[in-house]
Amino acid sequence: MANLQQLILRTDISGMPLEWVHYQTAVRLYYTHQVAYTCGTTLMRVQGGINAKTGLRSQLELNSIIATYGSKQDLFGETYVPPLSNPTLFKRDDHLCLYCGEHFPSAELSRDHVKPIVKGGKDRWNNVVTACKVCNSRKGGRTPEEAGMPLLAIPFQPTYVEYIYLQGRSILADQMEFLSAHFPRGSSLRERCLAN
Ligand SMILES: [Zn+2]
Repeated sequence: MANLQQLILRTDISGMPLEWVHYQTAVRLYYTHQVAYTCGTTLMRVQGGINAKTGLRSQLELNSIIATYGSKQDLFGETYVPPLSNPTLFKRDDHLCLYCGEHFPSAELSRDHVKPIVKGGKDRWNNVVTACKVCNSRKGGRTPEEAGMPLLAIPFQPTYVEYIYLQGRSILADQMEFLSAHFPRGSSLRERCLAN
């Protein structure tokens, strides 16, 4: 039985990843003739309507990756800033506290501002890291230098495609390979994807 929760990766006509869609959306894209071609593996077969002429029921195969007409080039420019949220921030940092280096479940993690807000630091990807609550309160309103707590990694702003990866749940191997091919050179997320 197909897993109906499995998300499908939608790309533009050039194969640039755009978003995750549920199978219902994918079906709608097929029936409105917006699917240009498919990649990846067949996830499921869904029954369509009965053809009035032939009396046969149509069948649709849904793939893990679908390319649709049109282009969203504006999303891939230097100016795109993905929304900052704790779940995507924690995933960016692999649920690792960037001060003590231990892994924690989300409930024990927090968003730390490297340069504290009270000192003029901004709530931006480049100034926030995942920190366990213990380290965060120990650091308090100080910079890493002031607190004597050096960062284990430099915070970065994900590109659009990296952000799609960070949003994903139970990403399939073929989708992962497809996405990581669009990561920037030297992306730390790529190393993690290859390791998994
Ligand atoms: Zn910690």
